[in-house]
Amino acid sequence: MNDKKLIKAALEAKEMAHVPYSGFHVGAAVLMEDDKVYTGCNIEIASYSPTICAERTAIFKAVSEGKKKVKAIAIVGDSKHTYPCGVCRQVIREFGKDAKVIIANDEQDYLVYQLEELLPHSFGPEDLANSSREEEDV
Ligand SMILES: [Zn+2]
Repeated sequence: MNDKKLIKAALEAKEMAHVPYSGFHVGAAVLMEDDKVYTGCNIEIASYSPTICAERTAIFKAVSEGKKKVKAIAIVGDSKHTYPCGVCRQVIREFGKDAKVIIANDEQDYLVYQLEELLPHSFGPEDLANSSREEEDV
């Protein structure tokens, strides 16, 4: 799976965006550890709070099918280069500390980052694994 194919999948997912309020379409395609691709779009809800981003839709679909390691994610949106929001950066971090993040306009125009560049000095699962629960038992 190369970057361009992942971007193509994200572009197709973007077509499914349910955005009656903002009109801002986003698509994402996530490449998991077994090289299977899961796609997602943003989905807006009338009461706003339940609204979910394309990146989380894609990742949660993968996780719900037992995949736990993000190798790469491609993101496309209605702005020239649509970056993931802070919440989605944290979700990518949870399942892909070393993930490649592809911010694309189309298959010819895209930027490639490592998650660490977009979410430096991050908090993650290792922090909780290394915490001392004994101190809290006092
Ligand atoms: Zn987001």
